[in-house]
Amino acid sequence: MSTETPPRDEASRRDPSCLFCRIVAGEIPSTQVAADDTVIAIRDIAPRAPTHVLVMPRDHIASAADLTDADADLVGHIFATAAEIARAEGIADGGYRIVTNIGAWGGQTVDHLHFHVMGGRAFSWPPG
Ligand code: 5GP
Ligand code: ZN
Repeated sequence: MSTETPPRDEASRRDPSCLFCRIVAGEIPSTQVAADDTVIAIRDIAPRAPTHVLVMPRDHIASAADLTDADADLVGHIFATAAEIARAEGIADGGYRIVTNIGAWGGQTVDHLHFHVMGGRAFSWPPG
């Protein structure tokens, strides 16, 4: 696999019809728990666990299936942010789950890459 994938161009960084792009832009309100130049983290509107936060890139990337080697720093930063949030939410010691759904059979309903950070209860395996 090539390690020389060019960075995304300006025009592809935002999809005006994308719910999470609109949340990133502040056009739709959300409860933010973390934000910086490249990522934001918001509380899920329909939490499935006592802590349920979504960590996502500001740039529009449809899903984890669209990541390339050029996104290595971004993905590392997303996971570091998720771990920081887990500590801040008090779920780090008990253990928690990070999930990203891909496509219809994967259960993805919003086509903007996001990682569910869920904790505060025990989870079964495998997921349903
Ligand atoms: P997916 O199903 O794509 O893995 O995850 C999408 C998540 O986004 C779901 O858990 C859903 O509850 C959450 N969600 C959908 N619409 C909104 C919204 O307008 N605001 C927030 N904060 N979360 C949303
Ligand atoms: Zn988007």
